[in-house]
Amino acid sequence: MDDRYFDTIFTLFSDRLSELGSPLPSVSMIAEERNDPYRVLVSTVISLRTKDSVTLESSGRLFQIAPDIPTLAATPSETIAETIKPAGFYKRKGEQLKKIAEILMSEYGGRVPSDMDSLLSLPGVGLKTASLVLNLGFGIDAICVDCHVHQIANRIGWVDTKTPEETEKELRRILPRRFWIPLNELLVRYGQKVCTPVSPHCSGCPIADSCRRKGVERSR
Ligand code: SF4
Repeated sequence: MDDRYFDTIFTLFSDRLSELGSPLPSVSMIAEERNDPYRVLVSTVISLRTKDSVTLESSGRLFQIAPDIPTLAATPSETIAETIKPAGFYKRKGEQLKKIAEILMSEYGGRVPSDMDSLLSLPGVGLKTASLVLNLGFGIDAICVDCHVHQIANRIGWVDTKTPEETEKELRRILPRRFWIPLNELLVRYGQKVCTPVSPHCSGCPIADSCRRKGVERSR
């Protein structure tokens, strides 16, 4: 697997997604409005276990009442929760977001840190959120591996791993650097439209002939 191989896969997947219609709203669309680490961090926390369309609307409402870190830190967690409702676990996320903002104020001078360890130390921030903040907020190369990336990379046969953490390590080894940032957005969208978690649409997939389909018991 070399540069040209991944170029081909990325092009085939992008073309297939274009054929299927307009892109779904996603965290990176929010981030692209302004490459603001604060917005990426907040919208990614909201996005966990939440539909993209709900994330987009919930984040938009929250940014209207809390456009920056100091304002979020001063907003009661109940207000944050009510504002992001019906995002999944909105009450817990309300508390997490307030706590995150308070820590950013007290320990990071009111800014989002740009290193992985500091980001991972924030409440409710895991590998996916930290990687997205580095990727989209700071333009730092990092591979964001969520459930779609982990599953599709294993199905195709790029990696043979049990956890997203192992997948991230393997992808760092085999994937040329220029694909690190776009990988997440592409595979998340591909996982939503084509290579779905249950019964993927293999009959309409441009790499069906070469895909190992590891772990796929049922497909359409
Ligand atoms: S052939 Fe099926 S399992 Fe493989 S990438 Fe395409 S949709 Fe996913």
